[in-house]
Amino acid sequence: MAVTDKVCFDRVLPADMQRPLAGRVMTMAIGKTRAAFQIAKLWPNGTTLQIRFIGGTADQHNLVRQYAAQWTEHANLKFEFGRAPNSQIRVAFADDGAWSYIGKDALSIPADQPTMNFGWLDEGVILHEFGHMLGMIHEHQNPIDNPIVWNKPVVNAALGGPPNFWDQQTIDHNMYAKYDLNQINGSSLDPLSVMLYSFPASWTENGFHSEPNESLSEIDRAFAARVYPRTQMPAGPVTLPVFEGVTEAEIGQPGEEDLFVFEAKTASRYTIQTDGPTDVVMTLLREDGGLVAQDDDSGEGRNARISAELSPGSYTVQVRHYNSSSGTGRYGIRVSREHAPAG
Ligand SMILES: [Zn+2]
Repeated sequence: MAVTDKVCFDRVLPADMQRPLAGRVMTMAIGKTRAAFQIAKLWPNGTTLQIRFIGGTADQHNLVRQYAAQWTEHANLKFEFGRAPNSQIRVAFADDGAWSYIGKDALSIPADQPTMNFGWLDEGVILHEFGHMLGMIHEHQNPIDNPIVWNKPVVNAALGGPPNFWDQQTIDHNMYAKYDLNQINGSSLDPLSVMLYSFPASWTENGFHSEPNESLSEIDRAFAARVYPRTQMPAGPVTLPVFEGVTEAEIGQPGEEDLFVFEAKTASRYTIQTDGPTDVVMTLLREDGGLVAQDDDSGEGRNARISAELSPGSYTVQVRHYNSSSGTGRYGIRVSREHAPAG
């Protein structure tokens, strides 16, 4: 039966499990749009993701390219398939089930190791794993209005046997565990989501079951477009002076993301902080797009503050409202350096 073949195991970084995003629920109030993303793992909106294959045949590569592209019709991200050694995403084809790290967790994986694996290939599994790569979680682990009542003895027997042979911990983690409300960006369960496993009614005590979802649901698409919106971006990044006071800025529309750049001329500790009444989330990236840090509320009130030892170079600061579905407002941003340059 195809059911047990379709099960995927999400790789979750252990450090991440110990450090959930504090106190934040983001509910999407856009009609029937429902799906769930992990807020802290989203890529910066507009990111170009370099994707490199590790092994696999030309046919396999073509299938992945062809189906994965559906996400970028809706999400404001670009996929570039190639051989770049610093590719953020590495796709392998080992006999190791199908799995993916979720969103930006891929950045923490050594560059010679896969961040996604396809033990089998079809449209549904490609869309599913790329959904994880975008930051989506399993719909059956969605904590909001989740109607599933598992028949655990049946599920345990099915997944503990061939072909998965999952141990109880894996089954608990991948099937029964629900995400904390404060970790996700979503609404109630979407039965048509490509992120929902397919399972029979015998796996539940209340008759809930799902068919294999082989294509993006309407809600999957709408949500990808909402989380990675194609709103007007500023004409280009604004250059931030180091030391010279506050630069005034504004999230003018829901979902807008402001970009700033600054030069770290010397190696030192730099502090980037926002002020004002707006609840912003700030992300600091290296020139190559690598994540330095992300922060929501370490500053005053709901302001963001990142303090980091930086080597000389150009850095990008990205600012968005915490509430990407309706938040707007003005804020100030400034960069300071701990030590004055010597001599
Ligand atoms: Zn999955």
